Amino acid sequence: FDDGYGLMGFRGVERVVASISLYSAGISTAIELDTIYATAPIAMCVVDRNGLLISANEHHGLLSGRSLFDTSGAHISLLHPELAEKLQNDFYNLDSGGHASDHEVHIGGRDYAVSVTPVRNASSMITALSLAYFDITERKSLEYKLKEANERLRYMSIHDHLTGAYNRRFFDAIIRREAALYKRRAGKLSVILIDIDYFKFYNDKYGHVAGDECLTQVASTMQESLAGVGGELYRYGGEEFAVVLPEYDASSAHEVCESLRAAVYDLKTPHTGSDCNYVTISAGVATMHETQEDAPAANLAAKLVKAADAALYQAKNAGRNRVEAVIV
Ligand code: GH3
Ligand code: MG
Ligand code: MG
Repeated sequence: FDDGYGLMGFRGVERVVASISLYSAGISTAIELDTIYATAPIAMCVVDRNGLLISANEHHGLLSGRSLFDTSGAHISLLHPELAEKLQNDFYNLDSGGHASDHEVHIGGRDYAVSVTPVRNASSMITALSLAYFDITERKSLEYKLKEANERLRYMSIHDHLTGAYNRRFFDAIIRREAALYKRRAGKLSVILIDIDYFKFYNDKYGHVAGDECLTQVASTMQESLAGVGGELYRYGGEEFAVVLPEYDASSAHEVCESLRAAVYDLKTPHTGSDCNYVTISAGVATMHETQEDAPAANLAAKLVKAADAALYQAKNAGRNRVEAVIV
């Protein structure tokens, strides 16, 4: 071997280690195990305790992109760096009475599952590990596509496709979760309900497509305004939105709500059917404050939303483009 453990040459006699007989149509054909190993259609090799490749078949050479001559005696970390540490762990686990595990590695743009089997000497000492590389590229690619599809489905199931805000279903789940947390901690919880003013007129005047664009713009403006505040925006209904603010007391929730109203007003989106000639929103904010009620979380959530809705109604009656707050 040279300094890099590469095999420089050898002297000796080729020896048949074992043979098996195959019977086919009554004709017996003896095939040497060495030949089966050498020509097997999957990559195989044996690695000793020092991480040196003491045997490999032709496919393993193809996998490494090097000739068998080059790879014999090479350190596994030079061929497949990902494997070196994993095999050391396998030796450790096997020595402690555990099992070797299969490993997934990426070689030459393809994925392989490497199965590991211990090689024992006559005294049952583990002297090496026998590896077989199974090409799982197609399976991994399908797994990846499935994961992506699941992520897309999950996204779609909780988002509104027009505005990108969370949807009503997710709002219902989150408000119940937050109400349950609130009950446990007896802390604070605020909810904002928002409704675009005179939006029917907007559609009538500018058309439904422009209405959709306006809805999207109002939603993204509110999302930007909420960034850093900690509240998330939900599309509650047609042109209605909601924000859940856990641990926000009445005055800080009112502040957030007022900043949303101002942000939409500052867009100065023309709306001739509105009192001020711009697109505006009205909002109701309801806050629960250290209520010791023994009601189920779902009831608390419903009570809070109902109160926010009543406050929103008041904001509409008081002239729109304004915020009304209530403590529950
Ligand atoms: P108010 O100030 O009292 O809220 O008046 P309004 O006209 O906004 O209230 P109303 O509830 O009567 O009308 C809401 C309108 O919102 C009716 C509907 O056409 C419109 N709308 C709801 N969802 C969408 C949508 O996804 N796209 C568009 N373009 N319009 C929508
Ligand atoms: Mg409405
Ligand atoms: Mg409206």
